[in-house]
Amino acid sequence: MFFAVITLFPEMFEAITAYGISGRAVKRDIVQIHCINPRDFAEGNYKRVDERPFGGGPGMVMMAEPLAKAIHHAKQLASQAGCTRVPVVYMSPQGKTLHENEVHDLIEYDGMIVLCGRYEGIDERLIQQYVDQEWSIGDYVLSGGELPAMVLLDTLIRRLPNTMSDEQSAVQDSFVDGLLDCPQYTKPDHFEGLSVPDVLKSGHHGNIEKWRFLQRYQRTLDRRPELVEKVELSPQQKKWLKDLKA
Ligand code: SAM
Repeated sequence: MFFAVITLFPEMFEAITAYGISGRAVKRDIVQIHCINPRDFAEGNYKRVDERPFGGGPGMVMMAEPLAKAIHHAKQLASQAGCTRVPVVYMSPQGKTLHENEVHDLIEYDGMIVLCGRYEGIDERLIQQYVDQEWSIGDYVLSGGELPAMVLLDTLIRRLPNTMSDEQSAVQDSFVDGLLDCPQYTKPDHFEGLSVPDVLKSGHHGNIEKWRFLQRYQRTLDRRPELVEKVELSPQQKKWLKDLKA
């Protein structure tokens, strides 16, 4: 998958290009991540990328022209990489909130050009002319779009084939089938007076699968009851629940 991130702080993206699952995906060429600094497309000695807002008020606004040139450059890189379905995405608290379902749909694209805002945001005309989608990572305001962009890239990359050493672990993650994940335990058997549930040490795969499902179901009911209403249970899962209530 192709990513071009338009950011005033390209160095921040080392957090995902150099570490963990996303770092490995870059090294293995499963993803390309290009960071493009709009300052490189700004005019004049000072290479200005921000100006005071028309109408007055606090702060600065990112200017449309350097961003438009950066987007054109990103589109050229995408087409050189053979990617055609590459929407321009603006990370914004005013966008649609990102959920697992949307992540599932977004990985179908060839790539994405991701715009990171700073200051009071971006000149509205740039958004009107160039932006295809706006995504928020939650109802709170951050100082810039870099962390939200990294959140978006990380969650997309870990869903791509061959990026995780154990593909099954992503299938069990919270939200993937609508439920939260089950509690996890590892060595040692005892920690500060607390033990690992016996069933997990029994080696009985059927019982372990049933225990994990019931834990996931109960946990979701306790913490996110609104999710349970939408979950489609398998016949086996329905039977486990029925047995529990009997
Ligand atoms: N004045 C803007 C508003 O209230 O909508 C907020 C600007 S914010 C300080 C600067 C940049 O951070 C935004 O342009 C956006 O790119 C990014 N940002 C902040 N919060 C975000 C969120 N919850 N989700 C995605 N991007 C966010």
